[in-house]
Amino acid sequence: MTAGASYRGRFAPSPTGLLHAGSLAAALASWLDARAHGGQWLVRIEDIDPPRTVTGASQDILRTLAAFGLESDMPVVWQSQRDEAYTSALTRLALDGRVYSCTCSRRDVEQVALQRGLAAGIYPGTCRHGPAQPGPQAIRLRVPDPPADVVDFIDRAAGPQRQALAAEVGDFVLRRADGLWSYQLAVVVDDAEAGITDILRGADLLDNTARQIWLQRCLGLPSPRTLHVPLVRNAAGEKLSKQTGARALDGADVLGELRRAWAHLGFAPLHAGRRDVFLREATARWAERWLAGAPAYNDGHRDDRR
Ligand code: GLU
Ligand code: ZN
Repeated sequence: MTAGASYRGRFAPSPTGLLHAGSLAAALASWLDARAHGGQWLVRIEDIDPPRTVTGASQDILRTLAAFGLESDMPVVWQSQRDEAYTSALTRLALDGRVYSCTCSRRDVEQVALQRGLAAGIYPGTCRHGPAQPGPQAIRLRVPDPPADVVDFIDRAAGPQRQALAAEVGDFVLRRADGLWSYQLAVVVDDAEAGITDILRGADLLDNTARQIWLQRCLGLPSPRTLHVPLVRNAAGEKLSKQTGARALDGADVLGELRRAWAHLGFAPLHAGRRDVFLREATARWAERWLAGAPAYNDGHRDDRR
C-alpha cells in the first residue's frame, strides 16, 4: 500500500491487568505496521467490563506504552465513554430486524446444545421467536442460516480463513443480560468510527474475526484487513495472562523487552543500542517483510479457543 495517509491501525488493550510480553508483541507489531505504511496509530482502552477492570491498569498501560516509545497519534479512545455510539448501532440493527432478546442462561444454552448434539457454546436459537422465559434479556444478533452463514476472509499472516457462523458460533450476544456491551459490538463500532484500516492483534482473536465481519456487513461498515500475530506462551504452553501468571514488563529494561518482543515476531536480532534507533530499524525490517508480497507465519498458529 502506498496511500500511507489512509492507513490507520490501533492497539486496543483491556485494562484487566498490566501489559505483559504478549500484549507488547501485539502492540509493537501494530505500531510497526502503521509506521511502515506511513500511517497513523491509535490506542483504545477497552474498558467496557467494569467487573474485570483493574483499578489503575489503564493509566499504567498508557505509561508503559509510552516508555516503549509507542504513543497514540490521536487522542486515546475509552470504550466506557462510547455508550451512545453502541446504543445507536444496536437501534439500527433492531430496526432492521437483525437482533432479538434472549433470556437463556449459560446453563440453558448448554443443555439444549447437549440435547441437539451441538458443540459446547453454540447458541441453539431458542429465543429466535421470542424470549423463552421471563427474566433479564441479552440481545443477540441473528447469523444467517446455512449455507449463507459462511464467512471467508484472508488474514495477512494466517492466510485464507473460513468460518460457518451458524454451525460454529450461532446467534451471538451484542449486549449482555447485565447491560454490558459485548466486545464484538464495541470493537466493530469503534474500529469503524476511527477509520481503522488494519487490525493487528493476538492470534487468540482470529476466531472472532468472522463474527466481526458479519456485524460489519449488517451495519454497512467496511472490514479492516487483519494480521494476527502468534501468541506468546509460557513454559506450559499457555497463553500469557494474569491467570497464567504472566510477569509484568520490566520498565527498567525497555530495550531488552523490545528485543524479546521482536524475536517473538520472528525477526533476527537488531543491534541498535537505543530505543529510537531500534524502532527505526525495526520499522524498516517490518516493511521489507510485510509490505512486499507478505509471507504468512506458517506455524499453523490458529487458536481454536472459543
Ligand atoms: N481488548 C481486546 C484484548 O485485550 C483486544 C481487542 C482487539 O484487538 O480487537 O484482548
Ligand atoms: Zn435464548
